[in-house]
Amino acid sequence: MSKGNISSIQKLKLWFYTLFYHSSFSFEYVVDTIMEPIFWFVDQVSQPILGPAFVVVVVILVSYVVVVAHLIGLPFWTAKSSTFTAFLAGTGYWILTNLTFNFYKVAKTSPGLPTDTERLLKCTVTICKKCISPKPPRTHHCSICNQCYLNMDHHCPWVNNCVGHFNRRYFFMTMVYIVLGCCFIMLFGVELAFREVIMDEHILPDCTNVQTQELPLDSSADEDLSECDEDYALLYLGIVVERRLFRYFIYFAGLLCIGTSLALGGLTLWHAKLINMGETSIEYHINKADRKKSDQAFVNPYDLGKRRNWEVLLGLDQPNTSFFRHILFPSSHKPTGDGYVWSHITEAAKRRRKLQ
Ligand SMILES: [Zn+2]
Ligand SMILES: [Zn+2]
Repeated sequence: MSKGNISSIQKLKLWFYTLFYHSSFSFEYVVDTIMEPIFWFVDQVSQPILGPAFVVVVVILVSYVVVVAHLIGLPFWTAKSSTFTAFLAGTGYWILTNLTFNFYKVAKTSPGLPTDTERLLKCTVTICKKCISPKPPRTHHCSICNQCYLNMDHHCPWVNNCVGHFNRRYFFMTMVYIVLGCCFIMLFGVELAFREVIMDEHILPDCTNVQTQELPLDSSADEDLSECDEDYALLYLGIVVERRLFRYFIYFAGLLCIGTSLALGGLTLWHAKLINMGETSIEYHINKADRKKSDQAFVNPYDLGKRRNWEVLLGLDQPNTSFFRHILFPSSHKPTGDGYVWSHITEAAKRRRKLQ
């Protein structure tokens, strides 16, 4: 349609859109704006109140799933095969040990403070306007902690700590082991939940034998219950209540595992993508703006290639470190580098990547 033929409705639509137009407008911009009040609320009250409360919530939820697995899952599998149950218990405890270790470490390890004067003299690139202190490359200020951190990724309320250079591996591994734990519970709990809740097979512990017996409650309706009948009625009532309670345990544990694996699974994949690209969450937003502005293809100077980026984060290029020992089992080894000085890709490599 030519310019002269714009109808009144189209003109009205155009005028309406101009009210909201912004050159940086995007879906993420809209989400950020909508989330702004939540961020503000978290910023204002998270440190003194929500921070410790979130950690307690995580501990309670993980403990809950562990208790349900022991109370309901373990007897179910033991009745089927004790050898397989031993394998399941071993796998479960391996996940739980790694999860607990990494969660504790990410919450308790400092992300890294830029306080080493000697190193700062060599690598300071700017001054933080908020805490008036020198900033090495990739250092950012956390407005919740009111402190600059080396290679800061983000402030995580669930661990009540900032995620940065020295605890980013623990953060990533905590997410991996929580998602793994949820998948483990769902995989080996689905048959139990299906048979008990959907098929109503009464497979919960200590119910089967009594359920098959005839209950003499109706026959004694007109008479006083004998002592034996009273005992039996109480036992029956106890079993019904117990089974209902156990079913609620299964419902909640199932919902918790499904919700957590979806939400945290997505977040884990997102962070894996960031690690692939050699970026932190903060750098992703900074680089996104640069990618938009730049006429030529933008190249992240800290992207050393996927393999090397992972090695740096996991600290696997140090002597005597291996994936099997230091990633699949608890390990306190540090990431590569001191968080002050960072390797850059060479200008030649930059040019090559731009041409790709
Ligand atoms: Zn600062
Ligand atoms: Zn922080």
